[in-house]
Amino acid sequence: MVIVMAPGATDVDIDRIVAHIETHNGQAFVSRGVTRTIIGVVGTEDVLETLDVDGLPGVAETMRITAPYKLVSAQNHDKRTTIRVGGVPIGPDTFTFIAGPCAVETPEQTLEAARMAKNAGATLLRGGAFKPRTSPYAFQGLGVQGLRILAEVRDEVGLPIVTEVTDAADVEVVAEYADMLQIGTRNMQNFGLLLAVGRANRPVMLKRGLTATYEEWLMAAEYVAQRGNLDIVLCERGVRSFEPSIRNMLDVSAVAMVQRLSHLPVIVDPSHAAGRRDLVVPLARAGIAAGADGVMVDVHPHPEAALCDGAQALFGDSLDELARAVATIPPLLGRTSAAHVAG
Ligand code: PEP
Ligand code: MN
Repeated sequence: MVIVMAPGATDVDIDRIVAHIETHNGQAFVSRGVTRTIIGVVGTEDVLETLDVDGLPGVAETMRITAPYKLVSAQNHDKRTTIRVGGVPIGPDTFTFIAGPCAVETPEQTLEAARMAKNAGATLLRGGAFKPRTSPYAFQGLGVQGLRILAEVRDEVGLPIVTEVTDAADVEVVAEYADMLQIGTRNMQNFGLLLAVGRANRPVMLKRGLTATYEEWLMAAEYVAQRGNLDIVLCERGVRSFEPSIRNMLDVSAVAMVQRLSHLPVIVDPSHAAGRRDLVVPLARAGIAAGADGVMVDVHPHPEAALCDGAQALFGDSLDELARAVATIPPLLGRTSAAHVAG
């Protein structure tokens, strides 16, 4: 069982409920978030049945959930959730287009990429300042200097920014600049990092681990939610497969399935799945048709000179083609562009 406390609930209210649970032989797990406190209750069926906390002061809601991931489960949700990132919605009624460079390299490159993204219809800008690279010899990102560039470009172009955080110690500084914190595939089960972003007052994009099952992915989201941050968007970015000619295999089933298991929005990143430009648009179309709540792609003004993932970056005709797919397919599925309802 999960007990969600009202925003104004006091410590006395919380202590009273914990005592009530313990008197009834249950175990209480209190998660104090920035905006709300959540109390998880573990106990036998008998214990949960005899607990009656609905009328106690400070209680907003109680939920009986059988899935192992309690807070992110679709159970007890009539409708999937819409998350807002700097006023831009990501959820079941809209379609959100996120684009930008894989990595922030220079102010000029980032600004140019942001303009390309905006002209193509994107309403959120992506860009990595802290890059999780396979090789320690590869470009590692500009760090805080990259965050400053992103913030300047946001002011100039007007797109809220999504950027990755790779270390729990950096969450505070990244949250100072970013509108959304991205957890990359390699960090999906970095539990210290998940707990740190769970305490941050920013929405989180949680990418699926390279070989993670749906349940492992949702349990990772549960770590974030358990710290009080329920503003989570899941991102399918391809999983390891036995086929060497593609970088990863975009799991289109994940979109449809995880939207049934969880109330959280699910988007696709066809760029990191494909690893090559010519496959990005076909995979994006497949993800959109499967019902994804958004798409995130890499764009670069000069992919041949990119310091990271140039082979998959869209530009020119390939970006135009993606823009057409994003403008035409979601309306067939009853979705409006997130641009039109941006706050
Ligand atoms: C990225 O989006 O820049 C990235 C590194 O992706 P992933 O974690 O999916 O590899
Ligand atoms: Mn990349």
